[in-house]
Amino acid sequence: MNPLYAQMGTTIFEAMSARARETGAINLGQGFADGRGPEAVLEAAARALLEKSNQYPPMAGLPELREAVADHYVRHQGLDLAPEEVIVTSGATEALAAALFALIEPGDEVLLFQPLYDAYVPLVRQAGGVPRFVRLEPPHWRIDIAALEAAITPRTRLLVLNNPLNPAATMCSAEELATLAAFCAAHDLVAVCDEVWEHVTFDGARHLPLIGFPGMRERTVKIGSAGKIFALTGFKVGWMCAAPPLARVLARAHQFLTFTTPPNLQWAVAEGLATQDAWVQEARHRFQQGRDRLAVGLAAAGLAVLPSAATYFLSVDLAASGIALDDRSFCDRLVEAGVVAIPVSAFYAEAPVTHVVRFCFVKEDATLDAAIARIIAAR
Ligand code: PMP
Ligand code: GLN
Repeated sequence: MNPLYAQMGTTIFEAMSARARETGAINLGQGFADGRGPEAVLEAAARALLEKSNQYPPMAGLPELREAVADHYVRHQGLDLAPEEVIVTSGATEALAAALFALIEPGDEVLLFQPLYDAYVPLVRQAGGVPRFVRLEPPHWRIDIAALEAAITPRTRLLVLNNPLNPAATMCSAEELATLAAFCAAHDLVAVCDEVWEHVTFDGARHLPLIGFPGMRERTVKIGSAGKIFALTGFKVGWMCAAPPLARVLARAHQFLTFTTPPNLQWAVAEGLATQDAWVQEARHRFQQGRDRLAVGLAAAGLAVLPSAATYFLSVDLAASGIALDDRSFCDRLVEAGVVAIPVSAFYAEAPVTHVVRFCFVKEDATLDAAIARIIAAR
């Protein structure tokens, strides 16, 4: 047995959703929205299932979807991507695995910011890589370039950047991205950019992709997910975009992970990317209202709510709220009160921040109101 997996627990998202299922608690833990996503995408998926081929699509993805993804980024982010530079994967998770397996040689060091999405460290280790952590601290979670420089060694090959950042709900500024680009070029690093939250941004702020910064076009893997763009997390249609020399190697890893992704879902996402900009815009407004509803409700009860610029999440600082419990104990207390949340310590591989709890706000108003009342009663 591989000790990496034999000694590992169940991911916090599954563990907390299981507690919601067992207890009937309101699930503000794992990130998924109420609602069905765009009807046109669901109809396209159903139609394609009945009317189009359900045999293996091309390994790198349906040409129509690769073109739709490239076109989407040309329109929304001013990038000059070609369809050949897009490889369709079964969710961003598979793209992350393929990128890390393809780019890491055993012993290579990988720079990772903490807090981090919990898949990163096992994937780096499975690839034989050595994680090097750079810590971000609440409430601002700002990147400290001096800390990055201090983590560099002659073995450093990759930087993994999750932007917008889950669970911190922050976005990198243009200045920060320019600094990161200069850093990657100076140390000859490839950047693996997990940008699944790129469209879930608030207050008029827009996501900027690192691949668009000087020197990054040839040294970046940009990862996205239809699950987040259309609030259809169960679709598990994602992609990775990179210049041809990188894309070729990424495709080699992808071909032996999943090889392909269900064709009807690929058709549906291609149609959605071409026709559903208005839905994405409307969802952004709706999610922002959910954010504000939860933030106002919790703040009125004296909880210290941290800012949320993007993602489905906001966090509460327990220490600043005068709550003496650590995040896991507080989450246990919340489950008893009928609400599931995520302890942010789960996003650290070492020396965790233990006084912050994450809540998902992309829920119906009535659900958020009921959750707020229960959280207030539990504090
Ligand atoms: N990366 C981050 C930062 C995420 O938050 C998530 C899940 N929300 C994923 C990757 C996984 O995306 P997918 O469901 O497309 O695999
Ligand atoms: N990304 C989701 C979250 O942060 C969870 C994804 C999963 O459960 N695999 O809640």
